[in-house]
Amino acid sequence: MKYPQVWDLEIFFKGGSDSEEFKTFVKKANEMSKELNERLQQSLSLKELESFIHDLQTLMQHAREAGAFVSCLTAQDVKDEKASLWQGSVQELFTSVQNVTVGLEEKLTDLTADEWTALINTESLREIAYNLEEKKKAADEKLNPAEEKLAAALAVDGYHAWGTVYNQAVGRMQIPFEENGETKLLSAGQLQNRLNSADRKTREQAFDVSEEAWQKEAPLFTSTLNHLAGFRLKLYEARGWDHVLKEPLDINRMSEKTLNAMWEAINDNKPRFYEFMNRKAQLLGVEKLAMHDVHAPLPTEGDASISYDDACDLIIKHFNKFSPKLASFTEGALRDGWVEAEDRAGKRPGGFCTSFAVSKQSRIFMTYDGSMANVATLAHELGHAYHSHCLKTKQPLAQRYAMNVAETASTFAETIVADALVNEAKDADVKLSLLENKVNRALAFFMNIHARFLFETRFYEARKEKLVSTGELNALMEEAQREAYGNQLENYSPTFWASKLHFHITGVPFYNFPYTFGYLFSMGIYKRALEAGRSFEDDYISLLEDTASMSVEELAMKHLQADLTTKEFWQEAIDVVLADVDEFMRLTNK
Ligand SMILES: [Zn+2]
Repeated sequence: MKYPQVWDLEIFFKGGSDSEEFKTFVKKANEMSKELNERLQQSLSLKELESFIHDLQTLMQHAREAGAFVSCLTAQDVKDEKASLWQGSVQELFTSVQNVTVGLEEKLTDLTADEWTALINTESLREIAYNLEEKKKAADEKLNPAEEKLAAALAVDGYHAWGTVYNQAVGRMQIPFEENGETKLLSAGQLQNRLNSADRKTREQAFDVSEEAWQKEAPLFTSTLNHLAGFRLKLYEARGWDHVLKEPLDINRMSEKTLNAMWEAINDNKPRFYEFMNRKAQLLGVEKLAMHDVHAPLPTEGDASISYDDACDLIIKHFNKFSPKLASFTEGALRDGWVEAEDRAGKRPGGFCTSFAVSKQSRIFMTYDGSMANVATLAHELGHAYHSHCLKTKQPLAQRYAMNVAETASTFAETIVADALVNEAKDADVKLSLLENKVNRALAFFMNIHARFLFETRFYEARKEKLVSTGELNALMEEAQREAYGNQLENYSPTFWASKLHFHITGVPFYNFPYTFGYLFSMGIYKRALEAGRSFEDDYISLLEDTASMSVEELAMKHLQADLTTKEFWQEAIDVVLADVDEFMRLTNK
């Protein structure tokens, strides 16, 4: 075998979850955190504040290194109990880092305007001036520190707890499902798998059972959702924020104008996707697609198999057409044991990429089974690793990109490989299935996620006035789906607000539009790369280096000369997907 399929973790800490080196490392990080906390108790001169900021960043890197190691340990062996214990200790470390950060923010708000200007113009802090300004602005727009502290303390039981109750209630759901002549009790997740079944009868049955089950639990979820939204809105009101999108837009460093331009461009193009949906309905032998058909596999599902070594070579070869630097980075990562790909028992499902901030290396986790989807996943995760690689010389605060640009490099890398697989496919069914997968992905971002965004925006507006009833939630959801899917479906899922976890997450508000943004932003970059070929490489790298140092509008203007607040860029991005729709229509036009 040319490329190792088991990753190398020994280079970080020898001995896995028994590692003495790791024990010492975590102990040292905890001491650093304690020492920083003590320094916060005194008043700090500007010079002392400057070195405090650098020491805090060092601590952040240590916490990330420890977190990365533990997530690798727990993923490679789900039965490693010592690794699970480490998870708790690392979580405590992250919490203490968070406390130190809050302490620093308080110090920053206490500075006079002159002191502040002097601080951020310090030579060593220039690289993170944007990030410090962002922190200061966020703090200025909030309540005073004492009130914010109280709000955060009350949020534990009065806000986040509603998310916990939701998760507990979903975890207890047992849904009767008839299969092969017997009635089984399924979990919500198991029922979800039936919804994606290749057999239409099974999907249909799962859909009906699912709607009924969620409707039964809806009164409880109506309460939890109304209460968590109520808490959020009350806090916004106290801070003087009247717009529910303010916080999510700020977190993603983007303007509402950009968001609107993106959705408008998507809306303009929806009719082209209706043609695709109609064709898919024909191929499935139905008049109109139902909700549970949209992402169903085609009846002539083709798949081909490819060995791990061949997949690695294919990825390197195609990356090289766009960027020799990306290709040689990838070759090194694959050769030096950055990837855990072996198909063996005891591994966690799924895939991820995590970066070791101190060692400046990444590790990729997945289980490679030879399918085309796996090749795309490997390329996707390598894209994440490359993004970290481009940012590795930046100060830690300048490495913290937001959710909407987090998938830029990964989607870009995945698209290069997905296109190559379509072009190289020899079997007609395989080619069609690969194309369909690509368009399907776009449909999820343009329709499903759009429905979530429309629902959530309208729900929060309604919630400002009063508690929103189960019936009203169902109606809002169905209306949002009809609008987002252009009334093209045979049925809708009014209880989707209850079954979709994302509406009940309290960590981040509006867990939807950043996905669509990220996908299309990456497609727009891909379009530029298709036109420019290898000469685009250095622009691409500088763009990645800046992902955590400016707003997305500035990022696009500086590196792509594109104005995100108008539809033009978004249309270019959508054109990339439309080319796939055209090809799909051509291949199925018989
Ligand atoms: Zn990703």
